[in-house]
Amino acid sequence: MVIDNYRKVELANAAMAELLQVPISPHRHPFAQDIQQYELVALINKVFEDKETRRQVITLPGMPTEKKVEATVVYTSTSEDFFQILVLLYDITEIFTVEQMQMDFLTNASHELKTPVTAINGFAETLLDGAKDDPAILDQFLKIIQQESQQLSELVQDILSLSRIESQSVTQHDLTRVHLGAMIDDQFKVLQQLAEMKHVTLINQVADDVQVVTDQSKCIEVLKNLLSNAIKYNREGGQVTVRFEQTATSWTLHVADTGIGISQDDQSRIFQRFYRADNSRTKQVVSGTGLGLAIVAELVSAMKGTINVQSQRGVGSTFDVIFQRLQLDE
Ligand code: ADP
Repeated sequence: MVIDNYRKVELANAAMAELLQVPISPHRHPFAQDIQQYELVALINKVFEDKETRRQVITLPGMPTEKKVEATVVYTSTSEDFFQILVLLYDITEIFTVEQMQMDFLTNASHELKTPVTAINGFAETLLDGAKDDPAILDQFLKIIQQESQQLSELVQDILSLSRIESQSVTQHDLTRVHLGAMIDDQFKVLQQLAEMKHVTLINQVADDVQVVTDQSKCIEVLKNLLSNAIKYNREGGQVTVRFEQTATSWTLHVADTGIGISQDDQSRIFQRFYRADNSRTKQVVSGTGLGLAIVAELVSAMKGTINVQSQRGVGSTFDVIFQRLQLDE
C-alpha cells in the first residue's frame, strides 16, 4: 500500500485487501479507512513522525484464524516537501507456527531429559554422602538409577528417530516385497520378554502367504511401537492380536489389545509429541517417552498411509494402519 504525505492511500494491491480483510477503494482516501488495527496504525504514525523506516511483527485479526504478519513501513522522499510511505505486509503465519512448534519441542525435550538426569544425580549424591553403607538402600537406589538411565536412553533414542525421519526426504522410500506374517513373528520375538512379564499373549492372525510392497524398516518401526504399546498398556493376562485385511487398492494392519483403553479426549492427542494420557495409573506404572506414537504418525504419513484408533476405556484399543497397495517396478 502506498500512502502519500496527506495520509491518503494512493494504491494498494489485492493481497493487502485480503490481509486487512477490507475492500480497498481505488480512489484516494484516508488510510485509516482501511487500516484499523491499533499496532499497525501506531507503526505508520511513527514513521510519519520520525521519517524513518520501521519493521514490526503484528497480529492481524482474521477469519477463521488470526494472522501473523511482518509489517515494514518504508519512508521514501521524492522531493523536499513530498514523501510517500510504503506499507508492506508479509504473511509469516506458517513460519511463526513452525518456529513455535520447534520452540515447544525444545522446551519439552529439555524438560523430559532433565527429569531423569536430576534423579540420577540426586540418588548418586545421596549414596556418595554415606547412604551406600546400608546394603538395602544401596540396592534400592542403584535400581532407581538404572531405571532412570534406561528412561534417558529411550528418550535420546526416540528424539534421534524423530530427527532422522524429519531429515529424510519424505519421498525417499526403500520399497521391497515383505512377508508380513514373518515380519510380525520377528517383532513378537523381540517383545517376548516384555509380554511374558505381563503374561500377555501375542496372537499373529496374518496368513503365512501374505506379501506387501512396503518400506520394510519404516514398517518395522511402526509395528514395534504399536506392539510395545499394546503390551505395555494391556492388563495382566491380556491379549494382543494382529490382523491383516486388503481391498483392491489398499491394505490394513489392525493391532488390537485388551488393555486399559484411551478416553475419547485423549484419542486425538496421543499422536502429539510428548503427550501421555493423563492417567496417573499409567504414568506411574508404565515407562515411556510420549514420543512413540508421534514417530508412528510421522512414519505412516511419510509412507502416504493413515492411522486410526478405536478404543474403549477398560476394554481395549485397536490401531488401524492403512496403506495403498504398491507395485514394484521390476
Ligand atoms: P509412551 O508409550 O512412550 O508414553 P506413545 O507416544 O507411544 O508414548 O503413546 C502416548 C500415550 O498414548 C501413552 O502414554 C498412553 O497413555 C497412550 N497409549 C498409547 N497406546 C496405547 C494403548 N495401546 N492402550 C492404551 N493407551 C495407549
